[in-house]
Amino acid sequence: MGSGLAASYTPGVDALRLPVVPAGPRALDAAALGLTAQGDARAHGLFDRYGRAHTYLRISIIEKCNLRCRYCMPAEGVPLLPREDLLTFEEIERLAALFVGLGVRKIRVTGGEPLVRRDVDDLIARLGRLKALGLHRLAMTSNALLLKQHIPAMRAAGLDAVNLSLDTLRPDRFRAITLRDGCEETIDAIRTAAAAGFEKVKVNAVVMAGVNDDELVDLARAFARDLPVDVRYIEYMPFEGNHWGEALKMFPAAAIRARLEEQLELIPTGFDETAAMYRVPGFLGSIGIISSMTEPFCATCSRTRLTADGHFRWCLLDEGELDLRGPLRDGATDGDLAGLIEEGLRRKKPGHAPADELLSVQKAAGPGGARSMIRIGG
Ligand code: SAM
Ligand code: SF4
Repeated sequence: MGSGLAASYTPGVDALRLPVVPAGPRALDAAALGLTAQGDARAHGLFDRYGRAHTYLRISIIEKCNLRCRYCMPAEGVPLLPREDLLTFEEIERLAALFVGLGVRKIRVTGGEPLVRRDVDDLIARLGRLKALGLHRLAMTSNALLLKQHIPAMRAAGLDAVNLSLDTLRPDRFRAITLRDGCEETIDAIRTAAAAGFEKVKVNAVVMAGVNDDELVDLARAFARDLPVDVRYIEYMPFEGNHWGEALKMFPAAAIRARLEEQLELIPTGFDETAAMYRVPGFLGSIGIISSMTEPFCATCSRTRLTADGHFRWCLLDEGELDLRGPLRDGATDGDLAGLIEEGLRRKKPGHAPADELLSVQKAAGPGGARSMIRIGG
């Protein structure tokens, strides 16, 4: 799907020539976040207008998944991308190399479920080779169901870290949340990963009121007590079609902390990317709490995203995005593509909108108008 943009685009020309980006929701105020406008991103490479350096790229490689988590995937599923809309490995590698050239130091491969993509080991090897160009860290987020068989090849290819998602230790709940079986297999895969020599293994649990908020301590003990695994609790975020505030409700970070402190001593150790981190005496791993909704971390955001269909997104919670695949396939040079990436970053707002406003923008866009989490890439 060529936009014809590449032929007409010259880095440095004004933004009016770019594809129209739908208006996003109202942004949090810059002053409230302690940010000041610092000029044009174009002049700074991967800095935005508020001086935030974007050194972290999350690449979604597929929209399909082998689970159906109710907080992620709309009940009606997501329409399958025509195969030709998916970026090829060669295209992902070219764009990733370009981002590394522009200053990205960490890449996380995600999805959908990245391990469902055929020949994913080959893609990890291609991305691993970008370490020669300046990439420091290659990581992956996965539901771990298919992980075990990939660990040797991926470790050898330079995968440094894995974030593995698991919201419950109870098979019946696992089925109720993900609409599939696989709880024991996931637990087993996490334990195998913990012994596989990764720099870091983290378990991510999305916390929902009345669904799994009574298992927070159990999850911490299951993985962080005897294994060098960090357990991180994520506030449930609203996305298109994910039951937010309806059947499923957020359990705020302050309540997560309080629930853990009923039984564990949490000693604050600072921030790790987006998570407030805690040490627990006697535990090998740490505890993290990610408060995207109630205590947003926009002021220190360093993230950008590439969707499986080749769109550049500068904020998980903003509908704005720019197509890179069209220009790429139309023969855009690296300079053209870099110009588009910088243009996207110029549009990054100081912070994301509050939850109710995110929801109303998503509802106004209608089904398919806004991207669900699974289509953005978590
Ligand atoms: N399939 C992989 C997995 O589940 O880890 C990778 C993609 S998934 C979209 C990435 C992360 O997003 C997972 O840790 C998942 O729990 C989280 N996630 C999905 N929907 C969410 C939501 N509504 N709120 C908060 N986190 C969410
Ligand atoms: Fe699949 Fe991950 Fe979304 Fe669950 S959270 S449906 S495992 S992409």
